[in-house]
Amino acid sequence: MSFIPAERLRRLPTQFFSALAQKAAMRVRDGHDVINLGQGNPDLPTPPHIVEALRQAVLDPATHRYPPFSGLPALKLAVVNWYNRRFGVALDPESEVAILFGGKAGLIEISECLLNPGDRCLVPDPGYPDYWSGVALAGGEMTFMPLRENNAYLPDYSELRAEQLERVKLMFLNYPNNPTAAVADETFFRETVSFASKQGIAVVHDFAYGAIGFDGLRPRSFLQTDGAKNVGIEVYTMSKTYNMAGWRVGFALGNAALISMINLLQDHYYVSLFGAVQRAAVTALLGSDDCIDELVGVYERRRGVIVDGLTEAGWRCPKPGGSFFTWIPVPSGFTSTALADLLLERADVVVAPGVGFGSMGEGYVRLALLAQEDRLAEAVARIRALRLM
Ligand code: PLP
Repeated sequence: MSFIPAERLRRLPTQFFSALAQKAAMRVRDGHDVINLGQGNPDLPTPPHIVEALRQAVLDPATHRYPPFSGLPALKLAVVNWYNRRFGVALDPESEVAILFGGKAGLIEISECLLNPGDRCLVPDPGYPDYWSGVALAGGEMTFMPLRENNAYLPDYSELRAEQLERVKLMFLNYPNNPTAAVADETFFRETVSFASKQGIAVVHDFAYGAIGFDGLRPRSFLQTDGAKNVGIEVYTMSKTYNMAGWRVGFALGNAALISMINLLQDHYYVSLFGAVQRAAVTALLGSDDCIDELVGVYERRRGVIVDGLTEAGWRCPKPGGSFFTWIPVPSGFTSTALADLLLERADVVVAPGVGFGSMGEGYVRLALLAQEDRLAEAVARIRALRLM
């Protein structure tokens, strides 16, 4: 019997990076010592006190039952407490927080909540490809907002023509940014609130790298901006802050109407996350922030290895302000894919070609700080040995 997938599945974008992952896996299989800096999967373990909290929680049979719909009130309170402590943002745990199966789930769900077929969404270019997937599933269309180096990788709203804004219901932003590693300032977020309220557009600020800022910078939450809650939500995840990518815990926070739409949709998809995982997440959020500071220190030292090493070799390698990525212009004569292929084939170093994040990503590669310093130094040495500069 043959099955024909529904239109919505056929609309999904192709996974650009899966081909690269396959090529890298083949080289590993052939015995090469591959250094994979192409993906965004944190390499360090979850802090032990959080793992211990999970172990304890699993032993309690109460966690084996269905958790309450929309999650544990204690977890909502914990994330509200965390936002207040770190950003001075006040949130109502009942109406302004939704618990997500990781940030990715919420980023997809919000398009399903807001977009009818033919509605439009503003997405950053380059940007995190999951935004495209949610829009495609909902039958929406995208208007790309170019992020240019000479505008600090912030979209310029004045560039958007009236016809590009027709039927726009939703926009995605993400700072600290994947893939460019740029950070946003208060002025930009203020502009965003005013643009979105004028145009009647819901803002989703993806704050996945919200805890990772360098040189003492603490990235701003969009919700710190006056009026932000009127126009949108922030999506936060525990994946990067606490190295909990496999645990799948995230949050949508902010506008109560949008939060209730996400909760409504989730009531149909799921009950909620495993109760033991939720309890461990409470422990993480209410515990000391020392583990976050240590992690940021680790990434900052790794950043030094890549940026200093490549800069000394004549590459232009801007210092990232946040996230765990470096976004590096390719040497002249290369496309981003040609450079990524060459680095894999001749140096066994995997990097992500910028074009995979959108056409404005052409001319750059993204290199993640997700290996120990000695491995990063080895990657730099191998790249330098190619004498491309
Ligand atoms: N947003 C951005 C920009 C990301 O880079 C990622 C993960 O790589 C996510 C969201 C999703 O994170 P998670 O689904 O693990 O919460």
